[in-house]
Amino acid sequence: MKSEKQVNIELLCLKIEKIMEAERININVSMNRYTSFRTGGNADAMVIVESEVELKNVLRLFSEEKVPHIILGNGSNILIKDGGYRGVIVKLGENFNSIEVKDHIITAHAGSKISAVAKEAMEHGLSGLEFASGIPGSVGGGVFMNAGAYGGELKDIILSVRAITKDGGKDYEVSNEEMQLGYRHSTFQENGDIIISATFQLKTGEKRAIATEMKALMDRRNQKQPVNLPSAGSFFKRPEGYFAGKLIQDSGLKGLSVGGAQVSPLHAGFIVNNGTATATDILNLMKLIQNTVFNKFGVKLEPEVRILGD
Ligand SMILES: Cc1cc2nc3c(=O)[nH]c(=O)nc-3n(C[C@H](O)[C@H](O)[C@H](O)COP(=O)(O)OP(=O)(O)OC[C@H]3O[C@@H](n4cnc5c(N)ncnc54)[C@H](O)[C@@H]3O)c2cc1C
Repeated sequence: MKSEKQVNIELLCLKIEKIMEAERININVSMNRYTSFRTGGNADAMVIVESEVELKNVLRLFSEEKVPHIILGNGSNILIKDGGYRGVIVKLGENFNSIEVKDHIITAHAGSKISAVAKEAMEHGLSGLEFASGIPGSVGGGVFMNAGAYGGELKDIILSVRAITKDGGKDYEVSNEEMQLGYRHSTFQENGDIIISATFQLKTGEKRAIATEMKALMDRRNQKQPVNLPSAGSFFKRPEGYFAGKLIQDSGLKGLSVGGAQVSPLHAGFIVNNGTATATDILNLMKLIQNTVFNKFGVKLEPEVRILGD
């Protein structure tokens, strides 16, 4: 027998079909295919939008009908709980994947991979994105998180961002300063608006030197991080004055497992999925780490990973 909720989702999907082709609407979608942790429950539905008009219409519908929804980027900083997500996952389709270079300025659609934008910059002899070339996220997710690595963060090079309000009411442009970009923070985390594209200011560089720097950083990443196992990168934010990985290691937790989730023996800041981890395993390990580090050092570790769902 169908539950009330399933019927509602089916009815909702009929309404979404008036906005976009049915083949881009999927019901009961397993999220482990869409997140780098490769685990988690099912979402009620997923829609793949292919234009700003479509996105606005879907957002308006969700706003009117009070439908919970999440914008999914590349899924490299998200953990969906095992109970799944009661609502709709919105994914930006292929048409939100383009990169335009003009002089020293690159504009990239939110669905483009950060690594692809960095590569394009390198091809054009533009420097400034080397630090980000190994971050496995999309431009949208990168701006949302103000992603950073090796002393750089997107804040350093973002000129402006185009976005659509969460109710689909209007699109607007916002400057770097207005987004209050800080350590893994942007105003999008509070306002829930959707990032459509970002414009980056780069500077002239030498193609070969840029490529060499990118390769050196990638080699460093491959050596120091468990890149061959599913994870969401550093699980915790860096607490002021400390490094999360070092606190975890100094608490004797390196290599510790809960079910299929493990504190990476290579880098204690990473929780990895050894193949069989449920989201619950990961969350139980997270709590164990938080309690142990707090009891030993009095430091509260906050997850950097966005934990969503039931
Ligand atoms: C192996 C590995 C290494 C990593 N290394 C780094 C690193 O060096 N530095 C770093 O900062 N991070 C790192 N990460 C984490 C992750 O790649 C970044 O946080 C990245 O910016 C997330 O982008 P995403 O597209 O995957 O976002 P997702 O995980 O899909 O989403 C993250 C959040 O952004 C929101 N979001 C996504 N797209 C949009 C949009 N268009 N509009 C509004 N909101 C949106 C989502 O709703 C969600 O809340 C790493 C992850 C892995 C797996």
